[in-house]
Amino acid sequence: MKLRKVQLSCPVFWGYNKYIDIEKYNNVDDILKQVLDSCEDFFKEHNLMDMYEYFKTIKPAYHIHDLTLEMIHNSNPDDVFYICRHDNCTNHIDKLFINRK
Ligand SMILES: [Zn+2]
Repeated sequence: MKLRKVQLSCPVFWGYNKYIDIEKYNNVDDILKQVLDSCEDFFKEHNLMDMYEYFKTIKPAYHIHDLTLEMIHNSNPDDVFYICRHDNCTNHIDKLFINRK
């Protein structure tokens, strides 16, 4: 087992993170999917249905920049890898979070 922290970076859900056993994955896209699915499942399992529905609408916009599986394998145990969402964050919930700062 080789765990690395993967975290969301976006106006609304910044900070959601999950430790991923990178030895179980053959590509970065599957890691991305695993973290996003776990967040979606969390909302559903805890009956946060509005959050669940909202998250599903923004989920396709999340992505990882310029990262290879090799880079993750060569990283330090305390490195954090970010899944980001920043383009077209213009729905009213995004604006609410962006404007509160
Ligand atoms: Zn990005």
